[in-house]
Amino acid sequence: MGLIIYLDGKFVPEEEAVVSVFDHGLLYGDGVFEGIRAYHNRVFKLHDHLVRLYESARTIGLEISIGMEEMQEVVLETLRRNNLRDAYIRLVVTRGKGDLGLDPRKCPKPTVFCIAASIQLYPDELYERGLEMVTVATRRNIPEACNPRVKSLNYLNNIYAKIEANLAGVPEAIMLNQEGYVAEATGDNIFLVKNDKLITPPIHVGLLEGITRNTVMDLARAKGIEVVEKVFTRHDVYIADECFLTGTAAELIPCVKVDGRTIGDGKPGEVFRGLLKDFRELTKIDGPVIFE
Ligand code: PMP
Repeated sequence: MGLIIYLDGKFVPEEEAVVSVFDHGLLYGDGVFEGIRAYHNRVFKLHDHLVRLYESARTIGLEISIGMEEMQEVVLETLRRNNLRDAYIRLVVTRGKGDLGLDPRKCPKPTVFCIAASIQLYPDELYERGLEMVTVATRRNIPEACNPRVKSLNYLNNIYAKIEANLAGVPEAIMLNQEGYVAEATGDNIFLVKNDKLITPPIHVGLLEGITRNTVMDLARAKGIEVVEKVFTRHDVYIADECFLTGTAAELIPCVKVDGRTIGDGKPGEVFRGLLKDFRELTKIDGPVIFE
């Protein structure tokens, strides 16, 4: 059975959910989006995702035609129409239809759509075994040009890095910033554990302020783990006790090899396992309910 999609005020079958070839989201990557998860009949951290969406829109000078409360209802209603209690949700706002020039003033109305689909989780095996990464040559966008904090539709920077990872035959890549400090993976934030401390790069390094990242830092502090946001290099990754990635789709995923170096004892660590357990508990109670 096909999905029901929210598109510009209507719920339509997926065959009818089409946007114009003149949409600047398509022509120029001009727009913003969120990837969100629903678990156990609740939309996890929905408020945080909506805040980030509207903040990204503000920076690119895009006025979203509907308010945040209405947008929350769009997400919940999309899930209801598809009878989904556990799902991956893609919420997108583009600059809308314009002419072939890039001037956003020629785009009178943003395009808004929301897709909710059953999720294909990563295989359990990957969480138990851990994944391998390489550092790639493509540097993360500099904040002064295309700020990684803005979750825009322009993902070419990350896609270049993903292609490098693909060519190296590994599932993920570490991206450095211009100075050579570790920034993040192609679609996930990065954490290290060293001497029982949890370490992650600060926002100013140039990375997306991940909602899972913030959640994991809160969970760690709640269990008495010291959390440090500081810049670090590949050397710090190689000598870490543990390394893992965080993101809405991946949740927390362990990384056991980087650039051919085994991290820690080459197995997902204890801190990682504890935090993943706490994270999964939190998904049972956080966020607005879908079906009352
Ligand atoms: N960094 C990048 C580049 C991403 O695309 C994502 C996924 N949205 C993340 C980090 C993780 O963010 P979140 O935890 O909010 O999904």
